[in-house]
Amino acid sequence: MRRAVSTSVGRLAVEETPVPAAGSGEVVIGVEACGICGTDRSLFAGDTPFVFPAVQGHEFSGTVVDLGADVRSLKVGDRVAVDPNVVCLTCAACRRGQSHLCVNLSPLGISRSGGFAEFAAVPERNAYAMPPQMSFDEGARAARAPGLLKSEASSGSGRRGGRSRVGHAPTGSSRPGGRARFRWSRRGHEGGRLPVPRLIPTRRASLFTR
Ligand SMILES: [Zn+2]
Ligand SMILES: [Zn+2]
Repeated sequence: MRRAVSTSVGRLAVEETPVPAAGSGEVVIGVEACGICGTDRSLFAGDTPFVFPAVQGHEFSGTVVDLGADVRSLKVGDRVAVDPNVVCLTCAACRRGQSHLCVNLSPLGISRSGGFAEFAAVPERNAYAMPPQMSFDEGARAARAPGLLKSEASSGSGRRGGRSRVGHAPTGSSRPGGRARFRWSRRGHEGGRLPVPRLIPTRRASLFTR
């Protein structure tokens, strides 16, 4: 398969590599859509500390093509949106049910290989089966939701029991776009209205042509 490797600041190489194997509790997906987010740009440009080389891309969706041992909730052929935030489930925050504050966060596309590739191995628990009416583009953009929740929680701007707002930027843009709302409760976040960020067609980039 082909993958785009960020080899050093500002340098990208498309290389051939074997399709990753699905480890225990992982699925391999054929990547169908992957956003290029402001974080990708910042890491690639060296504006944010980053360990090169790396396969970036943390907003992606695809089709399950292989299952590792112990995978129960998904099957080959499932269309999935990927939550890039891989958490440990053992630290104090994870045990409190606030895994968005995990101290051992290991995001796909940042700390481990992401979606700028034809195939990617992701933990089963980070792959969410999409409803049939959801497109792969929408699935890739929906993956931004956990990041919004995390940044909101980290900023401390949310008031418990109240409502708070966070701005977000459309995929492919650094300008603030729509707004998302979340309701806070004792247990943490409760889902609110979450608009899928706008896709800006003129800013789409294609790494691979099929
Ligand atoms: Zn992002
Ligand atoms: Zn944790």
